[in-house]
Amino acid sequence: MPAKKATKKKAVKRGAKKRTAATAVKYIYDFGDKTDGNSKLRELLGGKGANLAEMARIGLPVPPGFTITTEVCTYFYDNGLKYPTTLEKELKASVAVIEKQLGKKLGAEKNPLLLSVRSGARESMPGMMDTILNLGLNDKTVKALAEESGNEAFAYDCYRRFIQMYGDVVMGVQAVNENDHCPFEAALEKLREEVGVKFDNQLTAENLKELIKRYKEIIKKRTKSAFPQDAYEQLWGSVGAVFKSWQNERAILYRQKYGIPAAWGTAVNVQAMVFGNMGEDCATGVAFTRDPANGEKVFYGEYLINAQGEDVVAGIRTPNPIAKLKEEMPNAHADLEAVRKKLEKHFKDMQDFEFTVQNNKLYMLQTRNGKRTGLAAVRIAVELVKEKLINQKTALLKIPADSISSLLVAVFDPAAEKKAKVLSTGLPAGPGAAAGKICFTAEKAEQVAASGGHAVLCRVETTPEDLRGMIAADGILTSRGGVSSHAALVARQMNKVCVCGASEVVIDYGAGTLTIGDTVLNEGDDISINGTSGDIYAGSVTTAPSEVNQVLSGKMKAKDSYTFQLFDQVMTWADKYRKLGVRTNADSPEQAANAVSFGAEGIGLCRTEHMFFEGDRITFMRQMILASDEKERRTALKKLLPFQRKDFTGLFKAMGGLPVTVRLLDPPLHEFLPHDESSKRELANSLGVDVDVISNRVHALHEANPMLGHRGCRLGISYPEITEMQARAIFEAAAACYKLKKPIKVVPEVMVPLVGFADELKNQVAVIHRVAAEVMEKKKVKFEYLVGTMIEVPRGALTADEIAETAQFFSFGTNDLTQTGLGMSRDDAGSFLGKYKELDIMPQNPFASIDAAGVGQLVEIGAAKGRKTNKGIKLGICGEHGGDPASINFFHQVGLNYVSCSPPRVPVARLAAAQAALK
Ligand code: ADP
Ligand code: MG
Ligand code: MG
Repeated sequence: MPAKKATKKKAVKRGAKKRTAATAVKYIYDFGDKTDGNSKLRELLGGKGANLAEMARIGLPVPPGFTITTEVCTYFYDNGLKYPTTLEKELKASVAVIEKQLGKKLGAEKNPLLLSVRSGARESMPGMMDTILNLGLNDKTVKALAEESGNEAFAYDCYRRFIQMYGDVVMGVQAVNENDHCPFEAALEKLREEVGVKFDNQLTAENLKELIKRYKEIIKKRTKSAFPQDAYEQLWGSVGAVFKSWQNERAILYRQKYGIPAAWGTAVNVQAMVFGNMGEDCATGVAFTRDPANGEKVFYGEYLINAQGEDVVAGIRTPNPIAKLKEEMPNAHADLEAVRKKLEKHFKDMQDFEFTVQNNKLYMLQTRNGKRTGLAAVRIAVELVKEKLINQKTALLKIPADSISSLLVAVFDPAAEKKAKVLSTGLPAGPGAAAGKICFTAEKAEQVAASGGHAVLCRVETTPEDLRGMIAADGILTSRGGVSSHAALVARQMNKVCVCGASEVVIDYGAGTLTIGDTVLNEGDDISINGTSGDIYAGSVTTAPSEVNQVLSGKMKAKDSYTFQLFDQVMTWADKYRKLGVRTNADSPEQAANAVSFGAEGIGLCRTEHMFFEGDRITFMRQMILASDEKERRTALKKLLPFQRKDFTGLFKAMGGLPVTVRLLDPPLHEFLPHDESSKRELANSLGVDVDVISNRVHALHEANPMLGHRGCRLGISYPEITEMQARAIFEAAAACYKLKKPIKVVPEVMVPLVGFADELKNQVAVIHRVAAEVMEKKKVKFEYLVGTMIEVPRGALTADEIAETAQFFSFGTNDLTQTGLGMSRDDAGSFLGKYKELDIMPQNPFASIDAAGVGQLVEIGAAKGRKTNKGIKLGICGEHGGDPASINFFHQVGLNYVSCSPPRVPVARLAAAQAALK
């Protein structure tokens, strides 16, 4: 007991310190007539609670309620699922505020107040946690509700829904085995059959009373306790269940996927109920102020007449598109249009909101910045600027940098798509083209993806249990559910190709078939879906480059592609604000040209080793490696020289005078060696030696730990003739460019890899300078060039001041710097990184997103020390991290001059660099 007291004291003290005031911590914020929250308090109130308060504040019709803060959630988990002592008093006071505003009373037998209890974290986690509606109903209050509403069936329908939700969420009534599915649903289905109706809303009050009896029996039987009649007991039970749902399996998986810290916790929103299920002048729905799939400025959403809560998304009845509301409830529709404008004007972003109409009167139940596809993110941001709701800087910050790449995803090849027969068309919910194997289960989709295949997850509808499969699949197809269905929602968030609600598609899990008209497809068959148009095809339709790519390559005119115009607009804005340069990692003229069309301002890394694999080159390369002395080696190098020179000339031409950094030979030599018998024999023949000779030399070159072995500048130091040949090829190519009819004045940047000692660099630089002078002399041209180094081992970073005395530039090779800095092999880390992520030891893969606290320090130290002895030194980075927005933000802060990334990431890097500068 004393121990418990101590923790309580500590927690209260901690809270008090935060607010410095001596008063007790405020755990509950009201919204309604009395509103003390607002949208700035997201961390404390969660997104839903903060925005409910904000909507109430700006005069939108929000049923009154209150939010229990996320601090209570933290307290709850820190203190063995107990609440702060002052919470009960605050809760009672806040319930009283609602009671006063509405003239109702919780648990009273006259005018009973009914409540909803809802979750709401800082970031929305749709459908991941629990909601309870119609709380406060019991055997007595239900009678009052029936009388006061004059609608008995309605009252008992609310009651049975409440018992079902409460039984499920709070009392833990669950399916005991697979055939059981939800026992309440089963009872409901059985009753519908018994009385011969199709829909729940056709059940009479008497039917519902019978159902309630059966529900209570289910609870009794399964939990050994009775469904509670006391309203406050119900309320505490529900609040606790919502806090507990923060740690349910679905929520945990979701948080892992989206990097939401468990420490944030959820808030709990308690709100007076309004009823969309009271009759034909009532409805419930969800809407977006713009189309979340393509960003078009149209009112988008759906609703159901005479329905409550999740009915719209549950897919039992098919909801109507919002446009239809104009006919069915013109007043409510007009109110909604007004709300739509007001919301966008106030929140300055596309909103996704939930509403209920009770007796023709509109109530707002939730609003949030709507999740959207990458395409929609770009379009909405650009159009909001045009509409003068936001400025360019805000627009740039609103577009997740990664989403730019969804404008570059493949579409179906127009010719191939024309030829293919459209089997059916569903709702286009996630733009792009996906072709893959039909998978009916998440497990199957995961299997197909794991074995390198492409999966299209085909479900009647998806639920959060399918999340893993949706992550694994290339595309998602559902036969049921509209724009607010789970599938559509997840597709928007994950930028997945998705067609939903394709009602002609009949999926039979039992038979393992997907039928559209006469076409019967089986699991494992190919299917293709167009998430931009909603079209579905049997077989695998060939894909083509995106419109942006087509315009950039001259196959399409800019004026014919709105997508391209959007892309171009965002890139122009980004270039205006960014400070970081963006280069690309490219080894071939095609890659280079592609990257330049995406806006690359140079090559930050050309890996020469990639040039040694084609055709005859590998043979000469092998001859070089296996040479028994310098003479033999030089002979082989001589044969390689023309190839290298030609490659560099092509690259320099493609870059048209933009800087090109060429890295000298880097990888361990064994990577080039023949390992199987037949290629050993081939090589032996070409060299005119015995196979055994080859085998012995291969064996001699074997290293226990090649990543840390004879590689990088260590090769050039052992065999200066390799460096000599490469430098000669680079400089002769440069000279050739100067001599073109239209000279290209390239300034090649020669980069020495894996330097850890200043003297290593000095050794190599001497060779390079000598060769440069020879080439200039021989070719009678003068050209400029730079010599620099990769900083990719910790010692290089730590002694960067010494190295910078010789180097004209540094390029941080963050792939190797991460390997060597963490002592973690990039190729082997897969086996434990998953566990590390799960345990929060390393939430991000350090090879994808820079480990700022550790490896990042090496970059900072390297940059600072380098600049100390060489003020003007040029600093760049060329690891995978060069295309990762979070890492780019870090490199901006360190003050590097440029990042270099793979060609398709160049637009992402441009945008991320602008965002880093604007943050
Ligand atoms: P989620 O976070 O999963 O969207 P919500 O907390 O929004 O869950 O609740 C789900 C649904 O319950 C809402 O969409 C709404 O239709 C219904 N609901 C919640 N609160 C109320 C209320 N006060 N009155 C009527 N319906 C409500
Ligand atoms: Mg909601
Ligand atoms: Mg390296």
